[in-house]
Amino acid sequence: MKTNQTLILIKPDGLKKSLTGNVLTRLSETKLDIVAAKIAQVSKGLAEKHYSHMKDKPFFNELIKYIMGDYHKKKVMALVYWGPDAIKKVREICGSTNPEEADTVTIRGQYGRITTKGVYENVIHASTNEEEAEREIKLWFEPNDIIVDIYPTKTADINKKGKTWA
Ligand code: UDP
Ligand code: MG
Repeated sequence: MKTNQTLILIKPDGLKKSLTGNVLTRLSETKLDIVAAKIAQVSKGLAEKHYSHMKDKPFFNELIKYIMGDYHKKKVMALVYWGPDAIKKVREICGSTNPEEADTVTIRGQYGRITTKGVYENVIHASTNEEEAEREIKLWFEPNDIIVDIYPTKTADINKKGKTWA
């Protein structure tokens, strides 16, 4: 087992449906550590960066609106989970991307739906591999937001204490 870290987003549908507690309870089954957490409003720029790999999909614009909260609440909860096999354990509890195909005992199987426009409102995002996790965690969090040292940092400005991703 390899210790790694993963970015989790409780998406706007999860917040709108008051599923934060349910989702965190399910994730606690992994016995992983939460090492960063925040509530954030997603700008168009952040949404497009987060889903940059989906930009050629026909549903890209709808996906951006969905993650920005245009259809629910304009917020997401972002967390970093860390521990043995974190990426794999979290993805297993999330279930398949398509909520209708996801095992019914997974988070997406329990709480997700497909909209009439065909977007999978699947409540939760979780990184799929170590490269994706690194890119996403660095996109969503600054080094000082995370209570463990997971990636190299550099001091942003010698006159300030701030750190930035190296
Ligand atoms: N998505 C969708 N329709 C699809 C594929 C993906 O609406 O056919 C949405 C869905 O919300 C998904 C997100 O786009 O969570 C990102 O897609 P990805 O393939 O990365 O799935 P994930 O890693 O979230 O399981
Ligand atoms: Mg993905």
